[in-house]
Amino acid sequence: MIGYGRYRGYQVGRDYKKAHRKKTVIILAIAAALVLCGASLAGWLMHGRKAPSIHSETLAGIDIETIVELNDTQIAVHYPRTKNDAVNQVLHDFATTTVSDFKRDVVNYPHSRDELNMSFKTYRYSEDIVSFAFTKYTIHDWQANGEDSLATMTFNLKTGQQYQIGDVLVGQYLDALSGRIFNHLKNKAEFRDEAQRAALRDGLAPDANNFRNFVLDANKITFLFGPYQLGARDVPEQKVSFKLSDLKSYLAEPFRTAPPPLPQPAAPPAAAQPKPVDTGDLNGKKLVALTFDDGPHPTNTNVLLDTLRREKVNATFFVLGSRVEYYGDVVRRAYEQGNQIASHTTNHKSLTGLSPAERQFEINSTITAIEKTIGVRPTVMRPPYGAFDDAVRADAGMPLVLWSVDPEDWRYLNADTVYGNVMSHVADGSIVLLHDIHATSVQAAARIIPDLKSQGYTLVTIDQLIKTRGGDYTPGRVYYSM
Ligand code: ZN
Repeated sequence: MIGYGRYRGYQVGRDYKKAHRKKTVIILAIAAALVLCGASLAGWLMHGRKAPSIHSETLAGIDIETIVELNDTQIAVHYPRTKNDAVNQVLHDFATTTVSDFKRDVVNYPHSRDELNMSFKTYRYSEDIVSFAFTKYTIHDWQANGEDSLATMTFNLKTGQQYQIGDVLVGQYLDALSGRIFNHLKNKAEFRDEAQRAALRDGLAPDANNFRNFVLDANKITFLFGPYQLGARDVPEQKVSFKLSDLKSYLAEPFRTAPPPLPQPAAPPAAAQPKPVDTGDLNGKKLVALTFDDGPHPTNTNVLLDTLRREKVNATFFVLGSRVEYYGDVVRRAYEQGNQIASHTTNHKSLTGLSPAERQFEINSTITAIEKTIGVRPTVMRPPYGAFDDAVRADAGMPLVLWSVDPEDWRYLNADTVYGNVMSHVADGSIVLLHDIHATSVQAAARIIPDLKSQGYTLVTIDQLIKTRGGDYTPGRVYYSM
């Protein structure tokens, strides 16, 4: 395998769309009790719809790992895990190096509002050969603008080999790529200007480094060019694809014969049928809503669901759309046990720093992912980092649910501390923030739930809390506790 050191550098470009950094960050120290007027939920719930599987053959055997850190800085890094340990070491090192490099540039720690977000897309050439395309966004307090960058990696999951472009194409391929991609792009509006065209020629010079970012599909190769590589500062990311058959004379040995087609995805499961816990009449009872963010997680969420079933309680899961794609079965199980599935957006970006199109993508693609998985749309959303402004409220299309009890479980990663922090702050109407991607939080929940019950609390979902306490579903309304 080729050393991962070659991948430390992302292809970086400044993002001039994110002109002036405007962040409204809501930090909650105390519960704000809101007086709410009633309205009906009719029309939101559509039970019994057929839910197609979205876990495609492309993702078979690929897991998603998520690192989230809150408060001190805003970090959300998503990266893949495969069946090959050597490949996983490269991916893990890449992710942790990305985090430590970012932290080194955080000068006002721990009081900065710097942000790092990394996500990835998976492509599949064959059962064994996969490509990952990473996109990274960073902004520091000392920067007026954030930076977008990209990096790709292609692996053979059987042998652990990592493929560089020179392992896929051989011979005079650099001249061919340089000429063909130049001809493909030169007439686009952003390259018509003389200077910009010269920069395009430079960025596409026949050097393997200029073509290092590529992904392989079953029958094509796609080259990715970050926002700064092709010169002009406002040139967006460019993608150029070739059918592999069009590059036949340059293909290296393993890519010369087409791979067998990937297995067809399994038939979609039958529609999910929720069976909520019977809580009886909730009026007059002491209520607490436990909420779990940043999942689903293939192990920890399932352990939590075992606890919820054993204790006969329901909770609310604010899931990440990026992870729903990988763990739809966990989401379906949670929903079928009567738990509420709510949106935590797609990639855990701070929504207040995004362009309108990016913000709407983060919100809407998770609504779609949830609806595809369980057949119903979420009714509430929790913005990542609890950060929102008027634009987020306007685009959410549903209420924003924050929290009144934050045990900082992600920071302590200690079940005793998390248990103590929750039990000492909880009150009637509390919304408790936990993260089911952490085993320690799931262990804490196994003690919190029976102890809250023995103190006379009834555990409810956010929907139950809203309905019992006279809330409504006005889009953009913000709830902290009820
Ligand atoms: Zn979160």
